[in-house]
Amino acid sequence: MAYDRQDALMGESSPAAADGGGPAAAEGQPTIALVVDDETTTRILARSVLENMGYQVFEAEDGEQALACFQRTQPQLVVMDVLMPRMDGFACCTALRALPAGADVPVVLITGIDDSNSIEQAYRAGATDFVHKPINWILFRHRINFVARASQAFLDLKRSQARLLQAQKLAKLGYWEWNLRRNTVEMSYDLTALLGLPPQPGTLSETQLWDCVPEPVRERLARELREAIREQRSYSLDFRVPALGGERIVHAEGEIIANAEGLAVLMRGIMQDVTEQVRAQEEINRLAHYDPLTGLPNRTLFIEQLRLALSRAKRQRSAIGVLSVGLRRIEQMREAMGTVFADLAIHELAQRLQDSLPNPDQTDHSHIEVARFGTHEFVLFADHPDSSIGELPRLAQRIIDRLAAPFHIGTQPVQVGCSIGIACAPDDGKDPETLLKHAHAAMNVARRKGELVYEYHTREIQRSVMERFQLEGQLLVALRERQLEVHFQPQMALANRAIVGFEALARWRHPVLGMIPPDRFIPIAEDSGAIGQLGEHVLRNALEQHRQWPVTKLGQPALLSVNLSARQLWGKDFMTVIHRVLDQTGFDPATLVLELTESVLMKDSDDMIRILKRLKDMGIKLSIDDFGTGFSSMSYFKHLPIDELKIDRGFIRDLPRRGQDLAIVRSVIALAHNLGLKIVAEGVETAEQLRILEQEGCDWVQGFLIGRPADSPAAIRFLGQAIPSAPTP
Ligand code: C2E
Ligand code: CA
Ligand code: CA
Repeated sequence: MAYDRQDALMGESSPAAADGGGPAAAEGQPTIALVVDDETTTRILARSVLENMGYQVFEAEDGEQALACFQRTQPQLVVMDVLMPRMDGFACCTALRALPAGADVPVVLITGIDDSNSIEQAYRAGATDFVHKPINWILFRHRINFVARASQAFLDLKRSQARLLQAQKLAKLGYWEWNLRRNTVEMSYDLTALLGLPPQPGTLSETQLWDCVPEPVRERLARELREAIREQRSYSLDFRVPALGGERIVHAEGEIIANAEGLAVLMRGIMQDVTEQVRAQEEINRLAHYDPLTGLPNRTLFIEQLRLALSRAKRQRSAIGVLSVGLRRIEQMREAMGTVFADLAIHELAQRLQDSLPNPDQTDHSHIEVARFGTHEFVLFADHPDSSIGELPRLAQRIIDRLAAPFHIGTQPVQVGCSIGIACAPDDGKDPETLLKHAHAAMNVARRKGELVYEYHTREIQRSVMERFQLEGQLLVALRERQLEVHFQPQMALANRAIVGFEALARWRHPVLGMIPPDRFIPIAEDSGAIGQLGEHVLRNALEQHRQWPVTKLGQPALLSVNLSARQLWGKDFMTVIHRVLDQTGFDPATLVLELTESVLMKDSDDMIRILKRLKDMGIKLSIDDFGTGFSSMSYFKHLPIDELKIDRGFIRDLPRRGQDLAIVRSVIALAHNLGLKIVAEGVETAEQLRILEQEGCDWVQGFLIGRPADSPAAIRFLGQAIPSAPTP
């Protein structure tokens, strides 16, 4: 077919096309013909016919000249007389065939008529065809056309075979054909190499065929092929063959060809080395289902495993515990030590977690799967066929102990705590998503309680998680729509019973839920990052309202205490916010007290001390809130620019009854005074508490006894009240 296409490509302007046939050559390049004859007349006539057909013609007078000319011009056609001086046509043809470019070129020899001997000799010498002398020039044209087309077709076939071979080699593909009648097998050269065996000759007997198949797969393949023949169907199978560089995976498929009577006569098939494809598929599978860092299953795989375990548990009426293990301090570690270090730590922790699990062989057939979710969380489920989930707390404790044990990365000591949440099927959920959600929620509750705690999921947790979620979404709206208010709780100086200060406390007037206390929304604001905005709003609002207030009975402006959460203080633009609000409200910094919790101060960093000093330099007072609930020792505050301590409500509540609390209050007051700090007692509800505090030398008190938090007009009324006389002891 190729030559037809070539003809079409030549176009109408080509002399060959005009002549209705012609040489098949690459488009745009003339096809070269070499005419060899010692007779000038034949050469002239041949040239004229060939040129008329579109050839570019070169001439030679004898064999030797012809060889030289051939080398120089690389013709696509040679027309050559056999009878020539020096080197005749047979010798020249033989020599041409030995040349690399001469192997496939069509050579037409000109012989004497009916010289059967010459014809024989011409073919032996490698001639493609021959014409007789005297030459019939009309026939010659057709002869040449035919030879040229046949030669082109031959070249095309050769090229296409080479391409096919190359493609098969690239695809690691071999084919074979089994003639079932003659019981012979032909196979491509590479087929045996695929099977890890040396190459075999083209045609094989059936026995030889089976010798080509490696022993371990022979039986299986033979069975498959025999069945395919019997049932006259195609077959497809994969098998593994041992090979030098490790095992290879071979895919085989084929079909049966039947004759007109429906008898299987031929079976043909291919075999392909699909090792790379299979490995790539396995890798894709691994990446899709496993965490690359720890090699543990990921969320997708774990959920599938859990789903299966749940349906099994349902049949067996057994329980399943899902544990969410939240790692602590990973983010801080990543920030301080870098990603590589944190990854090494997580890798080690994953190992430790797995080590802490009971060996499945030793226990009651329980089954445990572990996975990694996100950066800070491992999850696992334990499936107990005997429905005893009483083991779960023990398991949780083992994990906590193992993960909390310190270890080293290089020379750097590492200690990472964890908190665990537990949810059990079927009580806490029947599907993986619900169970995971509940275990995670319980983990968050454990996390807020502190490290190294495990917590069971409860309805209470579920409710508060729902509420948190809803409030979080509404908090920003609340800020925008001014649902956040500030109330003020009075503080009284014991020395003269005057109201001398107020603590600003945030309130959320929710359009549906009514007044929401700060304990319920401040932690949400801290987690969601809205605390910066909220804090600035409360500060500005409090300072603005304070401007309407009269001075105290002692003639000075009342001090205004505002709570700061740790997240706010660590925010990048904290100082900017303070300056902005003070500027906008024109508030005197000396009247402002910022309340910080001990935990903020425990972050013993130079940055923190620098911020406190800057606040102090501006004239702002600093107070330690909820003192006694943290772990700080009093001596620690020596280094910090602190002005006051607020003793936590917890120590005041049982003051009259618990001697221990009295001892603490007494020593805190003494130590604080030693350091030159003012002492404020919180949560004073009874006259008895007030009396004791007065007796112990406490400076200020705050609590329901003096006044509940209330709006700004109430604060103004407090400031206007006359100083009461001292209560009777
Ligand atoms: P806190 O700083 O310890 O505030 C004192 C809390 O104790 C207030 O609760 C107050 O209403 C309550 N209280 C005062 N006197 C008594 C008493 O005699 N008995 C009892 N039982 N309670 C008393 P509130 O307003 O619910 O605030 C709770 C916490 O929310 C505050 O504890 C504070 O940590 C936080 N908070 C409040 N407003 C803000 C704010 O604007 N920003 C930040 N970051 N936190 C705030
Ligand atoms: Ca406070
Ligand atoms: Ca407090």
